[in-house]
Amino acid sequence: MNLGGVTARMKMAEINAKGGILLGRNVVVDGPADRLIRVVTHIHQDHLIGLRYNIKRSLYVVATPTTLEMLEILGYKIPIEKKLPLDYRKPVKIDEETITLIRARHIAGSAQVLVEGKDYRVGYTGDFKLPGTAPMENLDVLVIDATYGSPLRSRKWSEWEAIDALLRIIEERRDKGPIWIYGFNGKLQEIMVELRARGVSDVFVADSLTIKLMKTASRFYGIDVGNIMPLSDFIKDEPAIVFVRNTMFKTFKRRSGTHIRLTGREFRNVAVQVSENVFNVSFSDHATFKEVIEYVTSARPKMVIVDGYRSKDAYFTAKYIEKRLGVKSIVEP
Ligand SMILES: [Zn+2]
Repeated sequence: MNLGGVTARMKMAEINAKGGILLGRNVVVDGPADRLIRVVTHIHQDHLIGLRYNIKRSLYVVATPTTLEMLEILGYKIPIEKKLPLDYRKPVKIDEETITLIRARHIAGSAQVLVEGKDYRVGYTGDFKLPGTAPMENLDVLVIDATYGSPLRSRKWSEWEAIDALLRIIEERRDKGPIWIYGFNGKLQEIMVELRARGVSDVFVADSLTIKLMKTASRFYGIDVGNIMPLSDFIKDEPAIVFVRNTMFKTFKRRSGTHIRLTGREFRNVAVQVSENVFNVSFSDHATFKEVIEYVTSARPKMVIVDGYRSKDAYFTAKYIEKRLGVKSIVEP
């Protein structure tokens, strides 16, 4: 059957209704599908959809060694014969298709996915931000994440300013009791590393999952944050910085000290005092709208699919890419 140029290319990449990104003939990324190979770009929940299904059904689960280690910690049991750890830019060829993971700056272990066949070259960015994520060039189809896919969701400050704001709050409040920091897996580990790198030497306390993930992240970043006290041992509210996942805010918000939520949804200012002892600090783990456009501009793919499963403004992004950059662009699913 002759599908014709564009149609054939489109079939080389698509996003299914469950958020699975289908690349080439054999690969599905970050969502479920009946395919030989499941790739995991990183450990955030919206990229682990249907992973247990694929662990059963697929032949291989491909991810960076860091991501595979973190999946184990999160309770995903992947049989050893199915695990295929891939370092960045070390391609593997399976059934006439070459799969390459390329570093994406997002959290420890994050990767972009490049799949090359005889007559196609397609890729998915996964979650990313710039700089620190090298655009995949000469693609027939680029699947791109556009979590902040509209200029309305842009911030007027950089992430360095966000870290400065966090440091300032810590400095001003550390003698008023413990500092509680709430964030996602991955973000908490990155912040621990950033604080140590900036000379913060306070005692670190964390829940056991956060500690385990930190050990893996330490090897990834090449920075040892030192001993971390388990939260279960932190009984008296002595001076310390306590790292807990943001789902635990309700549990701990009445404890003494200062509570800081790291959030990607604070657009008012880099740091906002919500109440006497609660602050939001605005951190983004995703490319701004400008960075998404910058990525596509340097990558110059023949066609773009904007992830509409994980992005709110996918249609705006797709339209903008088509009109301003002249690159055919659609939203899926
Ligand atoms: Zn993510």
